[in-house]
Amino acid sequence: MSKIDWVLQELDGLKQAGLYNAIRTIESPQGAWLTVDGKKVLNFCSNNYLGLANHPRIVEAAKKATETLGVGPGAVRSIAGTMSVHINLEERLARFKGVEAAITFQSGFTANLATIPALVGKEDVIFSDRLNHASIIDGCRLSGAKIIAYEHNDPASLEAQMKENLPHFRRALVVTDGVFSMDGDIAPLPDLYEVAKKYDVLLMVDDAHGEGVLGKGGRGIVDHFGLHGKVDVEVGTLSKAFGVMGGVVAGEAHIVEWLRQRGRPFLFSSALTAPDAAACLAAVDLLEESTELVDKLWENGRYFKAEMQNMGFDTGVSETPITPVMLGEAKLAQEFSRRLFEQGVFAMPIGYPTVPQGKARIRVMISAAHSKADLDKGLEAFGKTGIKLGVL
Ligand SMILES: *Cc1c(COP(=O)(O)O)cnc(C)c1O
Repeated sequence: MSKIDWVLQELDGLKQAGLYNAIRTIESPQGAWLTVDGKKVLNFCSNNYLGLANHPRIVEAAKKATETLGVGPGAVRSIAGTMSVHINLEERLARFKGVEAAITFQSGFTANLATIPALVGKEDVIFSDRLNHASIIDGCRLSGAKIIAYEHNDPASLEAQMKENLPHFRRALVVTDGVFSMDGDIAPLPDLYEVAKKYDVLLMVDDAHGEGVLGKGGRGIVDHFGLHGKVDVEVGTLSKAFGVMGGVVAGEAHIVEWLRQRGRPFLFSSALTAPDAAACLAAVDLLEESTELVDKLWENGRYFKAEMQNMGFDTGVSETPITPVMLGEAKLAQEFSRRLFEQGVFAMPIGYPTVPQGKARIRVMISAAHSKADLDKGLEAFGKTGIKLGVL
């Protein structure tokens, strides 16, 4: 018996259950096509919604910043890591989103870990959508506040939980994903806002999959619903549609100032690098110049989803370009993905614990980088495989 036998048993258990994640290695830049394990495949996996991850202007901005400012940040933001490029980016993001102020972090994940514990603590309560992202859940746990899950996208459930629990706590926070990335559905933010307002509670939305996707020219979920000035804290990522790396919190100036003082990843983890920050600035430029890429993303999403439904696939409850293909059992989703890959289509199976047991799926991530011919190739492979495996 070795002290790590349990690890081997757990790993074996994952393999038996079809839940072992065999991680593929990408040998090319991000884009509609990827080189994976030496093979050129159609990319249906990335969050590179607008195709910006390898956009020439963004690459150029990163190169230029590398030449003028170097690569390493050298320090945390609060000591000697804050450069003018960070401040420029934060001002531009605030303007883009129509809020008073913004603060950036190393990632969306650390933005949540910074924000939630800065707003609530042990004497407080958090009302959290049952399907919220892992980084929200971890941020909630770190805060030490009591966590109460309300039913997914259900303002009535939120209100019932608030009525019952609010009297026992000092302060409260309502937190939800903007777009739920596994299903592609959108949080009913106007209704959640009404409930939060009625009880005078802080409202926070993590719009990682809505940033650069929803709203006018990708300004996010608050813009999508016309809720400017009503949502207290808007978290976003610069690692998905923006095509780079980083997280952002946008909102009221005093909240942003508080996060500069008390957001732990801001104080204790080194700054976003200058090339990353400069690349993010170039992404803001592109988004402000034209809505063309965002429009193309939606056009591609609508086309792909409609064709999949015409073939008879169940694409779940998605309202965004994210297209889940519901298959049920994890083993079927894995087999489906393996066969797609043989046909040159790279689409990942997703099973428990990322989604509930019995709700395994293949999640297709549509991008503005896809041409119609790309989408047609994907549709053909899905159709053939669906028939072979008895899904259609
Ligand atoms: C992807 C995601 C994050 C993490 O963002 P990164 O910038 O990749 O760290 C946070 N929240 C949600 C809802 C996400 O989907």
